[in-house]
Amino acid sequence: MASCFKNISFVMSMEHNDTFRHKGLRLRLVQELRNKGITDNKVLNAIGAIPRHLFLDSSFVNFAYQDKPFPIAAGQTISQPYTVALQTQLLELKPNDKVLEVGTGSGYQAAVLMQLGMRLFSIERQRELYTWSTGLLTKLGYSGRFFLGDGYEGLPTFGPFDKIIVTAGAPELPRKLLIQLKIGGIMIIPIGGAQQIMTKIVRLAEDDFEQIQIGHCAFVPMLAGVVK
Ligand code: SAH
Repeated sequence: MASCFKNISFVMSMEHNDTFRHKGLRLRLVQELRNKGITDNKVLNAIGAIPRHLFLDSSFVNFAYQDKPFPIAAGQTISQPYTVALQTQLLELKPNDKVLEVGTGSGYQAAVLMQLGMRLFSIERQRELYTWSTGLLTKLGYSGRFFLGDGYEGLPTFGPFDKIIVTAGAPELPRKLLIQLKIGGIMIIPIGGAQQIMTKIVRLAEDDFEQIQIGHCAFVPMLAGVVK
């Protein structure tokens, strides 16, 4: 998915205006997500509240409320709204959950989680994206903890987490992330190569993990190391 867009030079929109037109388009998007099977009203309300067009390159502003992924900087993508809604719904968030996100990217999924009142810790491996998304989220008034680092390591100092969401395709289940999940905690992660299976992991006990396959999806790959 990301490879199609690798050579696009990228300037993200820094216009923070949110017009009635944008709000109207968002309501339509929310209805589309409902029609596609998203049932969690809190998640739908968060998507209805967040100006997704600010998270995209200004040249894509008119497409921001289509249910599609789009290219962002560093050859990466902002996830499709349906995918954001599905992953968020699958997390079964409770008020004040401590959530780890791997792959901050544009910051849109992070915004949805913080809009829902979560204590968010998010890691991004590409400095360009880390700098941009952290700046935007701060300007929009969100407060979370953002890290430039390798999500394969997680954040052992800040864990364990109630929930973990991975927004890049992992070839296999990252062990270090599993052990940063609280007992009773949930991790949502796409597992596989070019195409992945959205997978829900529940930590039932210290050494007992339940694995549930949700369905097919396609994310940019989860890669090791940091791009400075
Ligand atoms: N949640 C993002 C999705 C961005 S695409 C959004 O809402 O826009 C996936 C992101 O994961 C990319 O930005 C990519 O650089 C990042 N990524 C891939 N492997 C990673 C790793 N090991 N650690 C941290 N981030 C990673």
